Amino acid sequence: MTDCIFCKIAGGEFNTPFIVETEDYVAFRDINPKADTHVLVVPKKHYDSLNELDDEIILGKLLGGVKRVAAELGLKSYKTVINTGKDAGQEVFHLHIHVLSGNIKGV
Ligand code: 5GP
Ligand code: ZN
Repeated sequence: MTDCIFCKIAGGEFNTPFIVETEDYVAFRDINPKADTHVLVVPKKHYDSLNELDDEIILGKLLGGVKRVAAELGLKSYKTVINTGKDAGQEVFHLHIHVLSGNIKGV
């Protein structure tokens, strides 16, 4: 998707530092953190939300990405969140998993 901010970030358009990168996903810090550590795990392929996801393998990979972020940043305790749909608070319509740790304010 040409007009999607997370497609652009995942494609390296802004030289965003990635905490983890694989052929399937990237992980980078949220621009407006709601916790001491707030990272987003984002598939390189565009899906509007979990509802549009047609590949269950990628879900396992994304959760593996959450674990890798935790290991990389030394997080022992953290929360993972997926917002699906506007009413649930989804603002960016490119599937992503929030990883939050320390003084979590909620997403
Ligand atoms: P959602 O509400 O869709 O579940 O979460 C979207 C998240 O993306 C928000 O926490 C917001 O702060 C973050 N975000 C929005 N635009 C950008 C951006 O351009 N760069 C980064 N790093 N995070 C963003
Ligand atoms: Zn996208």
